Amino acid sequence: MKEWNEECAVVGIYNAHNASVLSYYSLFSMQHRGQEASGISASNGQKISTYKNNGLVTKVFNKTILEKLQGKSSIGHNRYSTAGEDSINDSQPIFAKYGLGEIALAHNGNFTNAKEIRESLIQEGAIFQSHLDTENLIHLIAKSHRNHLVDRIKDALTKIRGAYALVFLSRTKMFVVRDQYGLRPLSLGKIKNPDGSTGYIVASESCAFDLIGADYIRDVLPGEMLVFEGAYTNNDVVPQSMQIFPPTPNPCIFEYVYFARPDSKVFGKNVYEIRKQMGVELAKEHKIQADMVIPVPDSGVAAALGYSRESGIPFELGIIRNHYVGRTFIEPTQSMRELKVKLKLNPIAELISGKDIIVIDDSIVRGTTSKQIIKILKQAGAKKIHLFISSPPTISPCFYGVDTPDKSDLICANHSLEEVRDFIGADSLFFLSLEGLKKSINSEENKRFCQACFDGHYIEELTGRKD
Ligand code: AMP
Ligand code: SF4
Repeated sequence: MKEWNEECAVVGIYNAHNASVLSYYSLFSMQHRGQEASGISASNGQKISTYKNNGLVTKVFNKTILEKLQGKSSIGHNRYSTAGEDSINDSQPIFAKYGLGEIALAHNGNFTNAKEIRESLIQEGAIFQSHLDTENLIHLIAKSHRNHLVDRIKDALTKIRGAYALVFLSRTKMFVVRDQYGLRPLSLGKIKNPDGSTGYIVASESCAFDLIGADYIRDVLPGEMLVFEGAYTNNDVVPQSMQIFPPTPNPCIFEYVYFARPDSKVFGKNVYEIRKQMGVELAKEHKIQADMVIPVPDSGVAAALGYSRESGIPFELGIIRNHYVGRTFIEPTQSMRELKVKLKLNPIAELISGKDIIVIDDSIVRGTTSKQIIKILKQAGAKKIHLFISSPPTISPCFYGVDTPDKSDLICANHSLEEVRDFIGADSLFFLSLEGLKKSINSEENKRFCQACFDGHYIEELTGRKD
C-alpha cells in the first residue's frame, strides 16, 4: 500500500486574528513542498472546521472558504505526491471526534512502523478511512485512557517510530512535536498582532514567516513538544516546551541539497548560502576548462554561482525556465517526459552554440531529467557538455519522508559513473563528495546529518524501511 506522507509542508498558527488566512499564505509560500492537495483546519474555541481538496493552494481556497474557517488557531498541510490515488481522504489535516472532543492533525514525514501499528489496530476493530500512516496516530490518541490530550499524544508517540513534524489542533490548544532525530524541519516564529498581543507560527520552512511578517525565533528541537494555550481565555500565550524524547539529531541533509526554498532558514542555516558554497566546493574538487557555467533553473542556480565565483568561469543563464507549466495532458510515456522538459526548459542557442559548457544541477535520481537537458543542449548546438552535480550520487531510497524511487530505479545505485555518464549523454560527469557537501553546510549546531540516500547508512533504531 502506498503511504501518503512524502515530503509535504505543515503550518500551525496560534493566537492570531484570521489564523486560517495566515495558514493559507504560509502554505502558499511552501507550495514547492507539495502540489497535490492542500488543507486547513481552524478552531474558534468551540469547534474545528476543516477544508481540504486536491490541487494548488490558490486553487483549493478562496475568500468564501477561508471565511468559513474562523478562529484564532489553525493548522495546514500541503501534500506532495505524484502517483497513485487522488483521494481527498488521503489529504490532510485529518479531523476526528474522539473521547476528549475534536482534534485535527497535520504531518510531514513517514512512520517506519506504520504497517505493524495499522495491522494491530485493525485486529482490535479499528476502521481506517485513508491510506495515511498519520491516521494511526489519531486511533492511538483516541484509544489512550489518559485524561489530557497532551498525555495522550505523548503516549501515542511512544508507539510510533519514524520521521515527523506534527501539528495538532484541539478546540482551544495547539500541540507541536518534532521527532527525536529532527529529520524533518520545523521552525517557530512570533506574530505581532495589530492589538499588540503575540501570536505564534510553526512551519516547515521559515519562508512562511517572511510572507506573513512573522519573526523567526528558533527551530522546534528534536524530541521537543510545544504546547500553546490561552488564545480563548485572553491569557498571554507563552508556548510551553517539553522534551518528550531524548534528542538524537540527524536532520535530513537533502533539505539543503534540493528540497527547501533557498530563502528559508532550515536547521538554523540559510539554504541559499549553503547551496552556493556547494558550488564553491565542487569547483575546488573538480577543475576543468570551459567557456561558461550554466545552471539548470532553478535547482542548480545557487551552486552554479558558487562554482563560477570559485573557478572564474563566467556564469550565464543559458537555459530559460517557463514558470507557468502546469500539468501536461498526455500519458506518462517516455515522449511525454521529453515534452515535459521542453515545456519547462529552453536553452538559448545563440549563447551556447559551439561552446564548451559546464551545466550544474543539484542531484541525479533516475537520470531522466539530466538526460533530457543534455539532449536539448546538444540540439541547441553545445560543443561539449560537462555535467556537475552539487551533491553525491543518490544510491539509496529515503524512508523518512522524501519521495525517492526504489533502489532499482536509482541510476547511480546500479551503474558505474561511466555508465551513468554514457546514459545521460554528457561528455563528462562530476559529483560533489559527501565531505564537500558537509563542508559547505559547516554547521555549528548540527554535526550529524541523515545522509542515508547518499551513503546507505540508515538510523539504526528506525531501520531503512517503509511499511
Ligand atoms: P531525475 O530525473 O530522476 O534524475 O531527477 C533529478 C531532478 O529532480 C533534479 O534536477 C532535482 O532537482 C529533482 N529532484 C531531486 N530529488 C527530488 C525529489 N525528491 N522530488 C522531486 N524532484 C527531485
Ligand atoms: Fe533526507 Fe536522504 Fe535521510 Fe531521506 S535518506 S531523510 S532524503 S538524507
